[in-house]
Amino acid sequence: MIDAHTHTNLSYCCPDPEMTPEFYADFLRSNSEGLQKAVIADHGMAIYFPAEIAWKWSYISHPSIFDEWKSQGDEKLAAHLEKIKRFAADGLIPGIELEFMNDGRPVFSPEFKKDIKVLIGSIHFLALPDNPSPQMIIDEWIRNMDMIFSYPVNILGHPFRWLESHIGTVPLEIISETVRRAKSQNIAIEFNSHFKMNSDIPMLKEVIRHKALVTFGSDAHVKSEIGNFSYHFGLLDKAKISINDLTFLSL
Ligand SMILES: [Zn+2]
Ligand SMILES: [Zn+2]
Repeated sequence: MIDAHTHTNLSYCCPDPEMTPEFYADFLRSNSEGLQKAVIADHGMAIYFPAEIAWKWSYISHPSIFDEWKSQGDEKLAAHLEKIKRFAADGLIPGIELEFMNDGRPVFSPEFKKDIKVLIGSIHFLALPDNPSPQMIIDEWIRNMDMIFSYPVNILGHPFRWLESHIGTVPLEIISETVRRAKSQNIAIEFNSHFKMNSDIPMLKEVIRHKALVTFGSDAHVKSEIGNFSYHFGLLDKAKISINDLTFLSL
């Protein structure tokens, strides 16, 4: 199996200092959990910004903040990718989890695209006005999904996590349309176990209906999450779907 979404301690949300690329390489060599490969996909925002700026999220509405930190971030990303490359034979795959800014750019320099095999487009934060209506929340989410779909990402990271946590039940037509769009652009839909979402089962059924590509990601922030797909297999059981009915993104 391949864990298509993991973090190292480079991400501010991954508090374990031992979770380095070296650790992942050792983990894969020891064949724990029967895992063959892992995509290291740290946050663009954690690579490009110091923690206090990253967590303020103001770069989303003010993309010029990215330009201020770009050269420093480029150096950090180059060093990080160099490290991951050393462990390619162990099964480490270079990836990045990208947040998108309001001008449509993701938080990284596109010249690194050639060195990164897996681009994961994810929504973690969206700027909303005070007391937004559900429709305003949905509209802002769609505007951001349009930006992700306009970029050559490989995977849609935890597709409905943000939306579900802001509006509750995600309408089936939104799930269906997102999966259809991903399928038409050969973008994989990610099943992510870091947070369990009610939309995962309908998303699974839509993936089957549209024959969309999928990935399984632990979104590991702690060691025990790496390569642990019990949640994913539980979803398949609940939906009475065989893993053989899924088409995985080849990595
Ligand atoms: Zn994420
Ligand atoms: Zn993540």
